[in-house]
Amino acid sequence: MKVVRSVARTGPGCHNGCGVLLYIKNETLVKVKGDPDSPFNQGRLCPRCLALPEVVYHPDRLKHPLKRVGKKGGDEWERMGWEEAFDTIARRFDEIRTHNGPESVIFCQGTGRDIRPYLMKLAYSFGSPNVISFGPLHGHACHVPKAMTMGVTTGGYEVADCSQFFPDRYENPNWEVPKCIMVWGCEPTVSNPDGFMGHWLLECMKRGSELIVIDPRKTFLARRARNWMQIRPGTDGALALGMLNVIINENLYDKGFVREWTHGFDKLKKRVQEYPPERVSEITWIPEEKIVHAARMYATSKPAAIQWGVAVDQTRECIPAIHAIIALRSVTGNMDIPGGNVVKSRLFDLNKAMDKYIGTLTDEQERKKIGAGMYPLHAYGYPEAPGAELTEQLLSDRPYSLKGAWIQTTNTFACGAADSKRVYEGFRRLDFVVVVDLFMTPTAAAFADIVLPAATYPERDGVGIPAGGASFVGTTNKAIEPVGDCKSDMEINLELGKRLNPQAWPWKNVREMYNTMLEPTGMTFEELREKGYLYDDFDYKKYEKGLLRPDGKPGFDTPTGKIELYSTIFEKCGLDPLPYFEEPPESPVSTPEIAKEYPLVLTTGAKTRGFFHSEHRQIRTLRRMNPDPITEIHPETADSLGIKDGDWIYLENRYGRCRQKAKLTEGIHPRVVHAQHGWWFPEKSGSEPGLFGAWESNINLLLPGGWTGRAGFGYPFKAQMCRVYMVEDQR
Ligand code: SF4
Repeated sequence: MKVVRSVARTGPGCHNGCGVLLYIKNETLVKVKGDPDSPFNQGRLCPRCLALPEVVYHPDRLKHPLKRVGKKGGDEWERMGWEEAFDTIARRFDEIRTHNGPESVIFCQGTGRDIRPYLMKLAYSFGSPNVISFGPLHGHACHVPKAMTMGVTTGGYEVADCSQFFPDRYENPNWEVPKCIMVWGCEPTVSNPDGFMGHWLLECMKRGSELIVIDPRKTFLARRARNWMQIRPGTDGALALGMLNVIINENLYDKGFVREWTHGFDKLKKRVQEYPPERVSEITWIPEEKIVHAARMYATSKPAAIQWGVAVDQTRECIPAIHAIIALRSVTGNMDIPGGNVVKSRLFDLNKAMDKYIGTLTDEQERKKIGAGMYPLHAYGYPEAPGAELTEQLLSDRPYSLKGAWIQTTNTFACGAADSKRVYEGFRRLDFVVVVDLFMTPTAAAFADIVLPAATYPERDGVGIPAGGASFVGTTNKAIEPVGDCKSDMEINLELGKRLNPQAWPWKNVREMYNTMLEPTGMTFEELREKGYLYDDFDYKKYEKGLLRPDGKPGFDTPTGKIELYSTIFEKCGLDPLPYFEEPPESPVSTPEIAKEYPLVLTTGAKTRGFFHSEHRQIRTLRRMNPDPITEIHPETADSLGIKDGDWIYLENRYGRCRQKAKLTEGIHPRVVHAQHGWWFPEKSGSEPGLFGAWESNINLLLPGGWTGRAGFGYPFKAQMCRVYMVEDQR
């Protein structure tokens, strides 16, 4: 067997870049193992990469470009060649550009994809400012609010320090084991979010780290924590403010750090007086003594780190909640110290090289971006257009009509889009849609005029930079020929880009394109491929050494040069400059009348071990791990409703209904249910109206539009109300 060392990326999807060894026999991928020499994952893999041969050779893989014959929703397709496909797409997009303007074509991608720079370049070089991330996702409510709030209040991007920036990892003499790690609204041993691996936490625990876990579910890590706080979903901001209250009032904060490096402490101190632990206990349903214990433990266990998940992004007023958590690690002086929350490595300024590669928008194009001017804070955040506003524009044609869509590896209404019926209706109004993916999906079946087959990562080359807190760069290395006529996402974008704007795409092939991107490393794609994993230099306390600000002065890259506990940018945007808590739009507290009819708090969006969002449902090994859509419900609650483990149940509220299977567990609060997302059934018919069963178990039917946070970030995926009852027909 031949073994090819590579870095895993999409598709199929993932946020990370685990080192893999691809075993090839007779030009066929037969096995995948973790690369023990990769400092990032040290030989470990999750089931999704282990099952990769099943994905690559699955009989349902899209293998050829297809064009729709007959009417939309009919699931009738005809094979076409790549030249015909590219020519048709270029002609149709060109027609829209001429008659309606380039902004009338939207470019959509899914979460965590390494196609982001190529997709953005395709959009920008075509002339459209309308790049839609995550599918569309309302309020950018995944990772982006955290990244944006850090960028505005600390000037950086901080992650829990598990030694990931050192190639010698846990042995590095400069690193310290965090004494305490607060795991906030995430389960990294399942979801491996944003370039952060769950097994890093286990390695820290083996070396003495103690955990505080904040989660409405009793997760693997919650069971091993010193203090598990079973929070009412959607109240994270109150908890952070309550812990700040204890830390500040008990003088447990780092006075030197606060004095030298933070701005607005006195105002924060005044604000947190509104959140005494007894009040916070009432809001969060967490016993007061647990809140006080956690605050003391975190503040007195230096170094201490916080690893957080999308739970804090997926509340409506997420920005002040995130701001409060940033304040926790700031006032305790746990910023950029070994074992604290560290500002990630510059990684050769590859992000700047990517930005240069993508290009920029003119002021006029910026003004035409969907939702332009609605939220001043968007100017400091993310270049993508917002999801909720996209839906409104698709349906209203205001301020202008949208006519075409390029949808690359994202599953719209069948995955992360709240208000999913209206998202579906909006996309159905488009004149011309192209979908690029590995399999036929509900999105492709419903909307596409042309479907293009993408290659999986063993079938292509690529530059593998893990998302979020990226710690290294490596290459994804082609190990086998693509099945059928599949092409890599990057090749597809390059070839189409050349037709739409040849000057913007001067490269002969993708390797040349990668060489341009890798220029800051001083290496070509080939050289990096030979070297393997490349780490940049990494230093602690960069704020003392003038390594964070463009002017080279000590401090943080914010308007005041300090961590802004009182944000001058929020103030400028007309927002509250201090952290605060606001109830979810519908909750037992904010809408008690609604709660009478829909008494359970519905939380959703947690990933499962075998699936990446709506992917992998057709992969037998992975589906066996989770054959049906699951709703977790407490046995007492289930008993009161006559529901047994494994029963099909309806979840319902004022907005919609879906069915899932009940899983009884004491690991969830009796007044909360957790429902899985991203469910569709590849084994069912793809024709309308069923669309692979995309409307049967789709939890987003219960999540309406119009609930974006006031800063333009956040949406309450984690905190809605519902009732559950038995499905009569249990088949
Ligand atoms: S975390 Fe991602 S890259 Fe790593 S093994 Fe899992 S699917 Fe593969």
